[in-house]
Amino acid sequence: MTIAEIFETMEYGPAPEAADPAEAWLDARNREILPFVNGAFLRPEGGEFFDSVNPGTGKPLARIAQCGAPEVDAAVAAARAAQAGWWALGGHGRARYLYALARQIQKNSRLLAVLETLDNGKPIRETRDLDVPLVARHFYHHAGWAQLMASELPGQVPVGVAGQIIPWNFPLLMLAWKIAPALAMGNTVVLKPAEFTSVTAALFGELCRDVGLPPGVVNLVMGDGRTGALLAQHSGIDKLAFTGSTDVGRILREVTAGSGKKLSLELGGKSPFVVFDDADLDGAVEGVVDAIWFNQGQVCCAGSRLLVHEGVAETFYAKLRARMETLRVGDPRDKAIDIGAIVAPVQLERIERLVKQGVEEGAKLWQPSWSCPREGYFYPPTLFTDVAPAATIAQVEIFGPVLVAMTFRTPEEAIELANNTRFGLAASLWTENINLALELAAKIKAGTVWINCTNVFDAASGFGGYRESGFGREGGKEGLWEYVQPAWLAEAKARQKTALASPIAPETSASPEEDEDDGPAAGLPAIDRTAKLYVGGKQSRPDGEAVRKIYGAGGRLLGEVGEGNRKDLRNAVEAARKAQPGWGKSTAHLRAQILYYVAENLSARQGEMAKRLSDLTGAAQAVARTEVDLAIERLFTNAAWADKYAGTVQATPLKNFTFAVHEPLGTIGIVAPDESPLLAFCSLFAPALAMGNAAVIVPSERWPLAATDLYQVFDTSDVPAGVINIVTGGRDALAKVLAQHDDLDGVWYFGGREGSAQVEKASIGNLKRTWASNGVARDWADPEQGSGEEFLRQAVQVKNIWVPFGE
Ligand code: NAD
Repeated sequence: MTIAEIFETMEYGPAPEAADPAEAWLDARNREILPFVNGAFLRPEGGEFFDSVNPGTGKPLARIAQCGAPEVDAAVAAARAAQAGWWALGGHGRARYLYALARQIQKNSRLLAVLETLDNGKPIRETRDLDVPLVARHFYHHAGWAQLMASELPGQVPVGVAGQIIPWNFPLLMLAWKIAPALAMGNTVVLKPAEFTSVTAALFGELCRDVGLPPGVVNLVMGDGRTGALLAQHSGIDKLAFTGSTDVGRILREVTAGSGKKLSLELGGKSPFVVFDDADLDGAVEGVVDAIWFNQGQVCCAGSRLLVHEGVAETFYAKLRARMETLRVGDPRDKAIDIGAIVAPVQLERIERLVKQGVEEGAKLWQPSWSCPREGYFYPPTLFTDVAPAATIAQVEIFGPVLVAMTFRTPEEAIELANNTRFGLAASLWTENINLALELAAKIKAGTVWINCTNVFDAASGFGGYRESGFGREGGKEGLWEYVQPAWLAEAKARQKTALASPIAPETSASPEEDEDDGPAAGLPAIDRTAKLYVGGKQSRPDGEAVRKIYGAGGRLLGEVGEGNRKDLRNAVEAARKAQPGWGKSTAHLRAQILYYVAENLSARQGEMAKRLSDLTGAAQAVARTEVDLAIERLFTNAAWADKYAGTVQATPLKNFTFAVHEPLGTIGIVAPDESPLLAFCSLFAPALAMGNAAVIVPSERWPLAATDLYQVFDTSDVPAGVINIVTGGRDALAKVLAQHDDLDGVWYFGGREGSAQVEKASIGNLKRTWASNGVARDWADPEQGSGEEFLRQAVQVKNIWVPFGE
């Protein structure tokens, strides 16, 4: 057909991007994709390879090395050996390399884009216009962070060697999201690409070599989940960054528990796409195309749940079906197609199985009239209507071009439906009413909210999940924290490694003696002084009716506290859950005022508290007084932060505002350490409360009276009931219950290594965020160790809200 004839008929004519340079690149390497270790490609010892297939044709593309323990060991060793030198290079030195990588990616962009398309099956339009430019952008952006690290993250040092495991849906982009921030902050990396898509990682390895990146700074090990498991469990890595399914995320939480490795998990999603009746419906239809048919719907933040205002639902579905009819599925290299191939037969089968289940569960299926190419792995755009909110297809991540639609009547109902998922990665809201949009943006539990846009990303904006979509952020300044640690902590960990000392030397417990000095007046029985639990603003008797005796210095019996159990914690979590929304919504000014008030009332009882501390710990009165002083100061510090740690506006390169908002994490379980029993207790609850969380706290197991003495302080300081709850008792037994509790959003644990391991392991139920000290003791009196951004960061989650404006 001639161009003139095509023009006449307006028939579609394919326009495939030439694959020759990419094929030649593969041929020149004998179609073998080898691990990149210490600056060189090496042949794996086992000599095992597996086929990688071009999803667009179903034909083999390359053979990928299956790396085993020898390669993973070598890669970790190379990364370790290179790390000190990479850090010593300084921010500017690293910035130069990251800049060089960005330039090199741009110069090789066509080759990268075509190889990515051949390997993954995504349309060339996407790899060329989106994936690769964003990869370059990530390296540019992080070249900047390397340059600015010393001034913008003072006191922070690299974590060390990062193990990184990525999925197949954005092979290069996920690689960039992982490698760029790690390198910028002075870490070295061992990255494992997904088994289906390892080809472009190898090309990236070559680019690292070409720019003269010091050997060992970037290492790439290819292979399937077995290689990933070897990397995750390797004792030589200090940090594990994972993007992939929630199931594997859970496994990784478990296998790294107690290892002291820093962990970030970017997991699955089932993101809502909400269309109100006042939205630009045609614009929203195009939004849906980008939300669920971009990358064949194989996008963690795909807008896979369409929620439509009831009044416009039928009109909207009709427009959508008409648009679906015009979408083109086919050869991913063709510049004129909209939807490419599904990555692999196993993924195609999963989509088919879930669609069948959707039909069986009674939802109405609609697909366009045309059929997909027979060669390769294709699936048509699919719309389900009449979907029950609890249906499998409404709850499970399909990871394919399948959209499930539901209707709502009111904004409240839209919020309820939007949040009716265990995930919380993203949401897209369509309305011309900015008031409504921002109201919903605040109420939907998701790490990214797009208003009248969808699936837009940028290196300057953090990305990551709430709930079972994982924890940690990638991109923006917030993403850098995943790859740094305070210098004092790095030193303490190094000391711990050599000494393996326990945080608190167990004190020889003196035999309990009766308190002679403070005994009752002659002839009168002692007044019972058992401190109860503090739940929902009231003192309550422990469920088990059991108490534990508390001994002070020299083994003197100082009192008794309630022995809390599972039921008590359940009640406390319930009270906290009830109180948190109101507290979270209250103004930061009010929260600050209340913390100041707690400080004021504590200072009124300064002498008494100091005596108590001195009786408990045996500290001299002056030392105890200092602890009370510092506790008051700590309360002031956190009151001060309440209205100052609010977020930022990110400079993303669209015509829009991107607000990085700090939201409370929610309800936090806190297990306080024994050392500095009052100061540590205040240092922990105050930032949690300042940032709008409600807390359930297990105070020092040994000296809980330092905390229970505060009940009256809380009562007289206007702390709303349920915002702070205190359950005394055995630390590790209670910590485990807190970590298992699915109604808590986070657990902070300050104690030994075994307790930390237990907390991390027990947290996999709802994948709550954990902050465990792993046996590293803090000097709570030091403001750097006992307060500041680290605490505030643990108390919030960052939500990025994208608000475009203009035409
Ligand atoms: P997957 O979890 O099966 O695999 C991801 C990676 O983990 C692969 O490299 C795989 O080899 C490796 N792996 C598998 N088992 C392992 C184990 N036991 N130990 C260590 N590593 C192991 O996920 P997938 O199917 O490749 O990717 C799809 C998933 O990724 C979806 O759930 C999607 O939502 C998610 N995803 C999330 C984001 C995000 O930023 N939140 C981004 C992209 C994809």
